[in-house]
Amino acid sequence: MIAEVIVDIAASETDRIYDYLCDQTIVEGSRVRAPFGGKIVAGFVMKIKESSDVPQEKLKKVFPAPDELPALNKECLALAEKLTARYRVPKALALRLFLPTEMRTGKVRELTKNYAELTLPIGEIKLSANAKNLRGAVEYLARNGKTECARLNEAFAGSVAGLEKKGYIRVTKEQILRDPYKGMETESISRTLTPDQKHAVQTIKEDPRTVQLLHGVTGSGKTEIYLTLIAECLKQGKSSIFLVPEISLTPQMLSQLRSRFGKNAAILHSGLSAGERFDEWWRLRTGEAKIAIGARSAIFAPIENLGVIIIDEEHDSSYASETAPRYTTFDVALLRAKKNGCKLVLGSATPATETYKRAKDGEFSLIRLRKRINQKPLPEIVIADMRREVRRGNNSAFSGALKEEMEKCLSAGQQAILFLNRRGYSQTVICKECGYVAKCEACDVSLTYHRDEDCLKCHYCGAKYGMLSACPDCGGKKLSYAGTGTQRIVADLQKLYPKARILRMDNDTTSGKEGHYKILKAFAEKKADILVGTQMIAKGHDFPAVTLVGILDADMSLHFSDYRSRERTFQLITQVAGRSGRAEEKGKVVLQTFDPENEVLRYATRYDYEGFYENEISLRAAMAFPPFSKIVRVLVTGEDDKKTIDALKDVYFALETLYTQNPEAFLFFNKMRAPIKRIQNKYRYQVLMRLSDTSVLPAIYEACAGARNRDVLVSVEENPANLS
Ligand code: ADP
Ligand code: ZN
Repeated sequence: MIAEVIVDIAASETDRIYDYLCDQTIVEGSRVRAPFGGKIVAGFVMKIKESSDVPQEKLKKVFPAPDELPALNKECLALAEKLTARYRVPKALALRLFLPTEMRTGKVRELTKNYAELTLPIGEIKLSANAKNLRGAVEYLARNGKTECARLNEAFAGSVAGLEKKGYIRVTKEQILRDPYKGMETESISRTLTPDQKHAVQTIKEDPRTVQLLHGVTGSGKTEIYLTLIAECLKQGKSSIFLVPEISLTPQMLSQLRSRFGKNAAILHSGLSAGERFDEWWRLRTGEAKIAIGARSAIFAPIENLGVIIIDEEHDSSYASETAPRYTTFDVALLRAKKNGCKLVLGSATPATETYKRAKDGEFSLIRLRKRINQKPLPEIVIADMRREVRRGNNSAFSGALKEEMEKCLSAGQQAILFLNRRGYSQTVICKECGYVAKCEACDVSLTYHRDEDCLKCHYCGAKYGMLSACPDCGGKKLSYAGTGTQRIVADLQKLYPKARILRMDNDTTSGKEGHYKILKAFAEKKADILVGTQMIAKGHDFPAVTLVGILDADMSLHFSDYRSRERTFQLITQVAGRSGRAEEKGKVVLQTFDPENEVLRYATRYDYEGFYENEISLRAAMAFPPFSKIVRVLVTGEDDKKTIDALKDVYFALETLYTQNPEAFLFFNKMRAPIKRIQNKYRYQVLMRLSDTSVLPAIYEACAGARNRDVLVSVEENPANLS
């Protein structure tokens, strides 16, 4: 037999099929060890065939990897082929998406134990009278059956080796699965669906369209709908994929999923150890678990017979991959849903403008949930005009309105959340005499002051610098701190309310395996009165005692040079506001801004998604922005400026030819330096395009694949989430 093998090397020179000899144990999708260029490398079998064009004597033999099943099923192989063609990446890169890293790198050994059992009836076993330990072990095995070798040896020293030599026992290896949820408390709640929820479930099942958009306000019970759909699939023996942003996999969510689905669910999240993740993946592959739950990458779960795919918070930017292949989760999900003939459910309180348009146009079905489950109104959002505060001489980060509400909240023993999407103490350090700004040596960005470590940090590469005592340019001693960050907020709050217990949640406080779980848990257990945090506090958390949310700087995300910044601002405000007043007490939100007339903020304070959408879509149409066009950025990065510019020129000329041949397909075409000229010592250039016709996309990928080389990375980004 001949195996067509892709070697696991992500380079274009080795990106082709190699024929190898193999035996029957190797099938399509098997992982193999293949002799390649004097080394043994890992490979994937794409196809098995009878004969090869390569002369038999030149063919080498591959050996199977020690997997009990081929690691990749047929659907995964086909999907990998599609991604390869779509994004022009080496096949190995696409195939890697389907395997846990732990498996590829071979870092995790399967956890196995040896067991011994007798090969003969005890009457036929002949042992001398003084072989006490051996006799003891045989009697033990006759009584108790199969026993772990370690235990036998402990009780009867040397018995395993002794008996095995005589052929009286057979030793077998068995795989032990690590259970990451051992000892995790479960809360078993089964709820009757409300009429609205029932109707939603019914519609999703009956509507013939593949994609179903569930547009429901925060707290409208979307999660319960997902769980019902998954449970119904399970009853029919079908499997499901349930995707959430990583940050939504809170302890509450995990225990809810565990108690509902037990061992049927495999939950893949960053809190697991490598070994645990590997075992969960394997449980899915063998079919022991039928529900894959996790962030973006769980869309590649190795399951068959899919009954439903769910993408919660579908607007979340974490669903777009930022490394090659730069797939969008929705595209992959749609391929899988179509292949399996199942539904793809998207859920959000604030769907992406593109998604909502497709639903309004009838391509997706649209299901609305307008009310919170407990009929509680959404919290009132009041705008605090920070220009007025400044005029009144208040230069602090807190408006009068927010302070008043915080005092009420604290004295009533309730909890507050303050949101500011900027970590550190202050964003920049500036010399008041000469205007010098402290910048990172490896990146073209200013440094953020972190007071707890008394250092300057680069938020792009993580580099740390000692704090300055004087300006390195002019020697001036007057350094000013601009741009308040979360650390500064905590310090200021502590001064205002010395008795308040304050927690901070941002990238600096959540490192480590269970970083953010610990903070969320402490806050949920009311071990703190105020939680100050960045973006990561906005999503999916359910804290019943929170009655106040403060949005400290609502303008921040508005002024990004990104066509989605208005939409992001609306989403963020709605999400953060949704944390307030989820239980009995009424909630309130104070939104601080220097631009109180801004229409995006106006729509957000009225929770008017429809209004915002209509306004946004007409703007996008007028400007010919997505979904009326596609933005494509080709990013060229490299450590050597000259080599990078050379590669840029190659790409640019290839693309320019394309542009002159198809001028009608391009609304915009330009090459320039990227907004951030250098990150982690890599120079960055870009060619920016806006396409009215995406039929030129394959040619763009083609041009870029040609310009890539060992020193320069050339990547194509479609509608990039981040244009820095
Ligand atoms: P969403 O995902 O839409 O933000 P959730 O699913 O978190 O909303 O539901 C909001 C709250 O309502 C949760 O505390 C949940 O436990 C509760 N809930 C959901 N469905 C029901 C139901 N049918 N009966 C009672 N409580 C429910
Ligand atoms: Zn840096």
